[in-house]
Amino acid sequence: MRFSDQFLDEIRQRLPITQVVGEHVMWDKRKSQPGKGDMWACCPFHGEKSPSFHADDRRGIYHCFGCGVSGDHFRFLIEKAGMSFPEAVEKLAGMAGVPMPSATSGRKSARPSARA
Ligand SMILES: [Zn+2]
Repeated sequence: MRFSDQFLDEIRQRLPITQVVGEHVMWDKRKSQPGKGDMWACCPFHGEKSPSFHADDRRGIYHCFGCGVSGDHFRFLIEKAGMSFPEAVEKLAGMAGVPMPSATSGRKSARPSARA
């Protein structure tokens, strides 16, 4: 299924990207400035001992100056948690408190509830 840009933007606006990334990294207390939404951590995508991974709430993106990864809320979960795009959207919509579009006709109820 496809999601409208408006819907995706609403999630990005309501949900600080540092909250999404923060579930997967330990912020560096000395380098980070929570009041500015300017947070640093050791990169979860490559091994390092000094933090060169940056997440910026004002721009809604993350970027690693070590290995060069970058992206937004959705991309982080796809790359880090191995989710598909629709899975990432569903999780982030839940975190942001944005209701999912109701156009998911049939697809959702078709999901098997039994254990695989
Ligand atoms: Zn990196």
